[in-house]
Amino acid sequence: QERPEAELEKLEVLGRGNGGTVYKVQHKRTSNIYALKVIHGVGDQSIYKQFLRERDILRKTDSPYIVRCFETYEKPSGEVALLLEYMDGGTLDTFLRNHGWFSEPEVSHITRQVLEGLVYLHSNKIMHRDIKPSNLLVMNKNMEVKIADFGVSKVTTLPLDPRNSYVGTCAYMSPERFDPDSNGGNYDGFLGDIWSLGVTVMELYMGHFPLLPPDQNPSWVTLMCAICFGDPPTLPPGASDEFQHFLDCCLQKEPSKRWSASQLLGHSFLLKYQGIHIR
Ligand code: ADP
Ligand code: MG
Repeated sequence: QERPEAELEKLEVLGRGNGGTVYKVQHKRTSNIYALKVIHGVGDQSIYKQFLRERDILRKTDSPYIVRCFETYEKPSGEVALLLEYMDGGTLDTFLRNHGWFSEPEVSHITRQVLEGLVYLHSNKIMHRDIKPSNLLVMNKNMEVKIADFGVSKVTTLPLDPRNSYVGTCAYMSPERFDPDSNGGNYDGFLGDIWSLGVTVMELYMGHFPLLPPDQNPSWVTLMCAICFGDPPTLPPGASDEFQHFLDCCLQKEPSKRWSASQLLGHSFLLKYQGIHIR
């Protein structure tokens, strides 16, 4: 069943990012609600390439842990858009800002779903490259979590452009991604996603970016030093040993020492809370 763009009514703005603007829209005939991600500036080759990358990935993914795309639009005027499944709970980032932090069982429940998504992606040879709370979407019933935003190609290589919201973008990047020499050779981008997952999961529990003291507004040099040269982060007292061990498996500086997504899915931190009802 087709959903021509003309039949969509824009209701509100759900989010804005580097890539474009995401609207909550209603399909007039069926009254169904969707999210419409409109990408601006596709005259710029690199932005257009990001759009194509995201479109191609969303077309071939089919998993309950990856946000679904129903339609893509490419108008002669140059505007391009993706019609996505609407996630009514917003992002984990807004969730954190409104609720502060998540309990350990909640973090475990969220982490399991993100890992299911990563196992799916990695087994299909897709790297996400931008795992962070604002790219993880929530469906309120059952606290379902899905991976979104496959538009990244913007931050994969040096030199860095300090003009854009660079600090926010590289906060979740693994140490090897700051190293220009590791870009070609044996750099395994899949394990970069695992690092980003570790930082994200820790942030969900602590309520702030875990590699720096709270309420800092770091320059990217500070941030890079914390990521590349800082001590491995530890959880505050009260967290379980399984949780700390899980993070240790994600936050190894040396990528080859990190566990893969499918190994992590069997970790005791996830098994321990399996079946526990959340909310
Ligand atoms: P960008 O590349 O601009 O970061 P995203 O795909 O991450 O693009 O979307 C930007 C924001 O729009 C998200 O952080 C989120 O707040 C909102 N958003 C995106 N997709 C959806 C969706 N399917 N349902 C609800 N909100 C969404
Ligand atoms: Mg995003």
